[in-house]
Amino acid sequence: MLDHPHIAGDVRAEHRDLRQAACDFFTDRNVAGWCVRPDGFVAREFWNELGRQGFTGVSIPADMGGRGLALTGCIALLEAVSQLSDVGIALGLHVQNEVTSHWLLVSRNRALTKKYLPELARGRLVGCTCHTDTDPKNPTLVRRDGSLLRITGSKSYVVNAVHADLCFVVGELDGQKVTVLLDKATPGVGVGEIYDKFGSRRIDQASIVFDDVAVPVDNLVSAPGIQQLLQWNHVMTRARFCTAVDAYYRLRDLLAEARKVGRNKNVAGKPFFAHVVNRQAYANAWVDLVLLRAGIADGYRHLIQGRTPTARIAGLKGYAVDRLCNFAALCMDWQGGRAASTDNVFARAYVQALALRMVAGSQMTMRELANNSFQGRVEANAA
Ligand SMILES: Cc1cc2nc3c(=O)[nH]c(=O)nc-3n(C[C@H](O)[C@H](O)[C@H](O)COP(=O)(O)OP(=O)(O)OC[C@H]3O[C@@H](n4cnc5c(N)ncnc54)[C@H](O)[C@@H]3O)c2cc1C
Repeated sequence: MLDHPHIAGDVRAEHRDLRQAACDFFTDRNVAGWCVRPDGFVAREFWNELGRQGFTGVSIPADMGGRGLALTGCIALLEAVSQLSDVGIALGLHVQNEVTSHWLLVSRNRALTKKYLPELARGRLVGCTCHTDTDPKNPTLVRRDGSLLRITGSKSYVVNAVHADLCFVVGELDGQKVTVLLDKATPGVGVGEIYDKFGSRRIDQASIVFDDVAVPVDNLVSAPGIQQLLQWNHVMTRARFCTAVDAYYRLRDLLAEARKVGRNKNVAGKPFFAHVVNRQAYANAWVDLVLLRAGIADGYRHLIQGRTPTARIAGLKGYAVDRLCNFAALCMDWQGGRAASTDNVFARAYVQALALRMVAGSQMTMRELANNSFQGRVEANAA
């Protein structure tokens, strides 16, 4: 992506150096050495190492403790991370670098930003984002109690939950959503179920319970109402953009792998790609890749100009993961019975694609966001 004409002009030597350093570091073999058990997730110290190596705080300005490499740096890093067979590390990095750090960056809370952002950017603190209520009918509640806020609720599927030091918790205060930052060591915070997942196994993911957790009122990261919505859209749009970039690189690599396999294969007495049905399906996936590249470049321009193209990026994320999942499933079909094996490269890729599909919102949520925007435009044009 870095060579795309919309992006290439922003690429400096530091971005290329970052990508090279990350390519050397983020190998399956190296990451496996940081895991608490084989096929498990990385240990807490991994995050400190990422900080030392300069892989955290990539997009955060240098005067806030980051590397000042902006969204271009984020893409450079994700390209390198995409060489890992498991998407978990990419998801953990999105949360640390693009969601929790950016919650602070766009918050109006200067004291919290000054205290925590440099530590997050240097990987000395790990953040998690607690949004998905375990029971949507019983959302997490935030109650004022003098100079304190009291938080009660339970969140599911939280990436980095086990190792996190800081939780960015979305809850309802007087019926309106807010985000509160709290130290995970605060009494009343507990890690619940640690999930045993199909894909994204390299990153921890757990539920978190908040049992009447008391934090100062000053820990509000956003004000209720429009400010919360704008900040939410800002961070989630970055997270979805990152997911689209992950999907792009994974689709590119799957195409290369499928070509290799197809070239060496004969079916019904003919080379694999001599069958029109296979050639056409492969060509369609190439078209998807080209369109995705254009969509990412377009989203990039909007984001670096300081806009938050929520609906545009939601559509892009939905499209990206949909096409990746479809192509991975097709490749499994092309493998025949071999695809039923856990060590099959395409079956493994499919499982990773499924993790990207649900992270940062389901396909339905992406469609809803994109549709609302189209509807808004139709109504505005008609008025
Ligand atoms: C790998 C991974 C990482 C994640 N990381 C985090 C994290 O760090 N923090 C966090 O808080 N959460 C995280 N999540 C949770 C994720 O954001 C949610 O799973 C996702 O938003 C869907 O919410 P849900 O599971 O409550 O499903 P539901 O909201 O119950 O949705 C399930 C289905 O219901 C239907 N549906 C729901 N809403 C609508 C609608 N408005 N219109 C039409 N149909 C609808 C759709 O078919 C949808 O796919 C993660 C999930 C995964 C898989």
